[in-house]
Order: sequence, then structure tokens, then C-alpha cells
Amino acid sequence: MMLSHDDIVMLLSTQGGAYDQLLDRALATKLHYLDNKVHLRGLIEYSSVCTKDCFYCGLRSHNNRALRYTMTDQEVLSCARQAMELHYGSVAIQCGERSDRAFTDSITRLVKAIKALSHGTLGITLSCGEQTDDVYRQWFDAGAHRYLLRIETSNRELYYKIHPHDDNHSFDRRLRCLDSLKKIGYQTGSGVMVGLPFQTVHHLADDLLFFQSSQLAMVGMGPFIPHPDTPLWQYRESIPSVEERVGLTLRMIAVLRIMMPEINMVSATANQTLVPNGRLLAIQAGANVIMPNLSPDTYLDSYSIYPNKHCADETSRCCGSTLDRQLATIGHEILYDEWGDSKAFLEVKKIGEHSNTVDDE
Ligand code: SAH
Ligand code: SF4
Repeated sequence: MMLSHDDIVMLLSTQGGAYDQLLDRALATKLHYLDNKVHLRGLIEYSSVCTKDCFYCGLRSHNNRALRYTMTDQEVLSCARQAMELHYGSVAIQCGERSDRAFTDSITRLVKAIKALSHGTLGITLSCGEQTDDVYRQWFDAGAHRYLLRIETSNRELYYKIHPHDDNHSFDRRLRCLDSLKKIGYQTGSGVMVGLPFQTVHHLADDLLFFQSSQLAMVGMGPFIPHPDTPLWQYRESIPSVEERVGLTLRMIAVLRIMMPEINMVSATANQTLVPNGRLLAIQAGANVIMPNLSPDTYLDSYSIYPNKHCADETSRCCGSTLDRQLATIGHEILYDEWGDSKAFLEVKKIGEHSNTVDDE
């Protein structure tokens, strides 16, 4: 559905009965287009080494208190094996950003090894930052088929308030990377943080319009959580409260579900970190993907993008049945052993294939 900037601002500001109506409408839209099914991606937090310096993230290269690790191939494969045993259907490899050859080759090798191990049955999402077209293609050819690269904010000025303004942090390059991913054929996902310093409801409305005009297949949005070892920590008193950030994130999910009924939308861990039932609230607001963490315990504390990332995540760790039970309480169920591709992507692909056939004739 097409909504104007003003309509979106109004919906993001709803309270009371109007807020309940918004959430009901979003849930009804999701159930109509996607049914009550939730897809899982077993999250593998491959490495905390990062060459970038984003002002919000605990893994930024200038944070010398961050603990750095990179998993061995065996550790990654054992996570993938676990995902198969748990019937998750897909894994997602996420890490700090590096562009050196040793790193990019490792990802290629790991994607191929996961494909071989699972005889092609595991779907693979990557979230390994900005790369060249060649690297994105290499990873795609190896077998990755979904890629997550959050734009963080679609507003250029705000982008440079939360990133250094230098060659290593370019808003235009981020946009180009999203384009390149789409052209190569990935199901491409992006997203933003909600409740950033200097962010207004107008920025957020523009973010939703950006997702729609970019025809993304997937979106992930989560509340910003200040990290004490980062520059944005200084603004922690001036950002919206925890309740407001979670509430605004749920409104963003609900409005986007109405605007883009068939996309995959993840229930971000950051919601669960801030409120105990955050994961379920996001599913009720319109999200349809959960990413339970499969990383070995020894690394959890080191992958500290924001504080307490993993404390609140215990219920998702290897506890499919707990998640099953929780989701059942809100009338949802997990779709096991499937890739859970974005219906929006599959529809666009179908149209593309059809028009190719027509062209060929
Ligand atoms: N390095 C990759 C992937 C890892 S970071 C990348 O940056 O794309 C994954 C996401 O974590 C980021 O896109 C960002 O939206 C989110 N994130 C980072 N710091 C955060 C914070 N302090 N609060 C909430 N989310 C954060
Ligand atoms: Fe690195 Fe990603 Fe964190 Fe930026 S958000 S510092 S690229 S891990």
C-alpha cells in the first residue's frame, strides 16, 4: 500500500485505541499474505574484528576494550550442523566488516562448506558489510542467496552524525552496495536503528518510504541501544526512553507491514534485550523472522555490538521448543526445514521471468 509521508508520521505517533487498531491491521495483513508462519535463521556471529568505526557500535575499531575473535571453520560448521539438527532451514553469518582477501576468501570457503555439509538444504544469509561487486558475486556464486545490509538511516545528514565522515564510511557507497546486491540476484535486506540521537519521526517516515521505493525483499529494524564504549553514549540522556524506543520500533514494523505486505521482516534481538517479551511483540506487530543465536558460548560476550545483547537471548538458544511454546501463545508457528524466502522477492522474480519469456518470444 502507498502511504504519504504525513500519513506515516501520523501512524508512527498513534496512541491508545488508534495504536491498537494499527497493530491489529498490521497483524491481519501479515496473516492474510504470509499466514501465521515464522521462519528461523540460526545466527552465527562469525567474527568481532571490524575495520569500521561506526559511532554507535561496540565492535568499532577504535574501541580497544572490545574483545576480538574469529571463529575457526570447524566452529562455524558445527553451528551449521546444529542448525540442521534443529531443523532451522537457514543460517545467517554476521560479523564485523573486513575487505582483505583472507577474509573474503574465508566467507566463500565457509559458504561452500555449509552448502556441501547440508547437501544444499540450508539457506544462507550473509551480513558481512560493504564489499566490492566482485566479492558479492563470489559469495553469491558460492551459494549465499540473502544479504542484510542496514542503511542505518536513509537520511544522509543523520548518517554522518552517527558515522565518521571519511572514505571508510560513505552513505553513497552503502546505497551502491544495496543496488549491487539486488542486481547480482540476492534477496536484499536493509534496515535502520530506531531512537538514534538526532533522529525524528520524519526521518523514520522517510526510512519506510526508502524501503518501499528500494523494493527490498527483507527489512530489519531494532531500537538503538547506547554502548558505553562508543561516541554516541554521550547522548544517552537525550534519546527516547526504552519504552518509547520499543514502542516506536513496533509502530515502524506495523506500518511497514501494511506498506509492504509480503516482505520478510525480522524480529530484532535488540527488542528482546530491552523488554522481556520484545521478540513476541515484534512478531505480533508484523515481523515473521527470528534469528536464534547459535554462536558458541565462549564468544557471546565478545560480540558486544550493544550491551547485554546476549543476556536476554537465552530463551532462543537451542530451545526450539521454548520458542514453539511462546509463539503458540500468540497463535504463530515455526516453519521448520524451509529456507523461508521472501514472498516479495519471489513475486518480483516471477514477474521478471515472465517478462523475459515474453521478450524471448
Ligand atoms: N558489520 C555488519 C554487520 C554487523 S552489525 C554491518 O554493519 O552491516 C549489525 C547491525 O547491528 C548494524 O547494522 C546495526 O544496525 C546494529 N547495531 C550496531 N550497534 C547498535 C546499537 N548500539 N544498538 C542497536 N543496534 C546496533
Ligand atoms: Fe563494524 Fe558493523 Fe559495528 Fe559498524 S555496525 S562498527 S561495520 S560491526
